[in-house]
Amino acid sequence: MLTGKEYLESIRDGRRVYIGKELVEDVTAHPAFEKGARTIADIYDRKAAAENRDVMVSEENGEEFSTYFLKPKSREDLEKRYETHRRIASWTHGFMGRSPDNFPCYLTGLATQPEIFNELREGAGDSLDAYYHKARRNDLFMSHAVTNPQGSRRAGDQMDEAGIVSPTLRVVDQDEEGVTLNGLKMIGTGSIYCHETWVGNLQPVPPGQEAETITAAVPLNLDGVSIWSRKPYEATANTEFDMPLSARFDETDAAILFENVKVPWDRVFLHDNVAMTREIYFRTPGHSLANHQANIRFAEKLRLIVALAHKLTQSNKAGAIPAVQSTLGNLAAQLGALEGMIKGQIQDCEEMPGGFVTVNRRFMYAALHWCTKNHSPICDVVRELMGGGPIQMPADSSVMADPDLYEKFETYWSLPDQSAKDRMKLFRLAWDVLGTEFAGRHMLYEKFYAGPGFVMDLYSYQLAGWDELAEIVDDLMAGYDL
Ligand SMILES: Cc1cc2nc3c(=O)[nH]c(=O)nc-3n(C[C@H](O)[C@H](O)[C@H](O)COP(=O)(O)OP(=O)(O)OC[C@H]3O[C@@H](n4cnc5c(N)ncnc54)[C@H](O)[C@@H]3O)c2cc1C
Repeated sequence: MLTGKEYLESIRDGRRVYIGKELVEDVTAHPAFEKGARTIADIYDRKAAAENRDVMVSEENGEEFSTYFLKPKSREDLEKRYETHRRIASWTHGFMGRSPDNFPCYLTGLATQPEIFNELREGAGDSLDAYYHKARRNDLFMSHAVTNPQGSRRAGDQMDEAGIVSPTLRVVDQDEEGVTLNGLKMIGTGSIYCHETWVGNLQPVPPGQEAETITAAVPLNLDGVSIWSRKPYEATANTEFDMPLSARFDETDAAILFENVKVPWDRVFLHDNVAMTREIYFRTPGHSLANHQANIRFAEKLRLIVALAHKLTQSNKAGAIPAVQSTLGNLAAQLGALEGMIKGQIQDCEEMPGGFVTVNRRFMYAALHWCTKNHSPICDVVRELMGGGPIQMPADSSVMADPDLYEKFETYWSLPDQSAKDRMKLFRLAWDVLGTEFAGRHMLYEKFYAGPGFVMDLYSYQLAGWDELAEIVDDLMAGYDL
């Protein structure tokens, strides 16, 4: 297993990361990414530390590995995985969604059924199994880019004037060694900090576009791969006091461009198959384990949001008002309901082929639906509870570097039970959760990371068990007549 220091060294590997036109030489030393990389390194160190090992490190045939690579065979295994995810999420208060424990959920779930892949292409399942063991042994940090560039579906197979068929990643050539990939894949959250990315499709691919179904694992420093960062928030977070989350927990998002990238066959797990490119995640525990992790991560974020709501109303003295207590009670009930929804997924876990288990999928998709739809409304409630407090504060903490201004600040902005500095510290944190550009990105993330809203509805529609529900109505009506 990697130490934090080894992890940092391992991503100084010649990868090509762009911020606008700037090519970043070393992501671990650049002011836009340095603290984020340190946060990931801390996760590596903390998960192996004495106080966490029992839960967060597992063992098989003498090999130790992170518990998020554990193939679950019992409720106890799911509980161990739950606690591993919960601790990791608590270290970033849920603000790093694609933390090192996220993609291994997909990979571990897929690797419980290599036979599916072997049936699709001879040896592909064996390659998947070998890749799972390699990732586990080397403690790899992986992102996944399984979404296509917006609007690309309209392009279909029509060639534009520049001779480009579609911007979407596709196989443009293949030989006995492997495939050659060209095109864009979205959105590689965390990729800037990852060793490798998984490319594939969680959106359906229409017949005729088989070349886009490629599903493979690609090292992010491979020739022809470049990572195009969105605006990094760490770069503009001038101090931790002023933007405590932007400064340390910007997990980064990026488009990943592949220009004639050669990928060997032992890294290709699916190819030329529109029916299965998406289906693999649902036939195996891949999608359910990964989104269970997302539920747990969201609950840690919600704990911080609800705690902040309470603290803010103590600070602005609104917390004693019954109507405000009612609002706080509503938030506390929402948090409790989500925590229960997550525990229920483990309690009512489901058996899968090969003697494995996964979390209860109906409950997991219900929780995913709940999180997706409720994050923005909850944030709006807390923003309202906050009043205009953040805007009443001076521009930034530099005001306290000037003794004369600091004295005036403490004289006029403090309350009998709170220093002006403490009030400002609380409001700066709350604003980073609810108001900054970093916070705005999280509004978008919580709506879309698992796909658009209508897809969340469809997951629950598909698993509702309509026949069983219909029987309730039929039985009830059968009990009476004219
Ligand atoms: C911050 C962030 C991080 C992300 N991280 C990752 C990641 O790590 N890996 C990854 O693969 N992807 C990631 N994504 C991408 C995410 O999966 C997509 O944004 C999501 O699937 C939506 O696709 P789109 O952005 O192309 O929107 P579009 O598909 O273009 O949708 C635009 C709007 O139209 C609506 N719409 C479209 N079609 C329909 C329809 N048929 N019925 C009703 N409404 C419709 C959508 O609901 C949405 O509101 C991330 C996204 C964000 C914002």
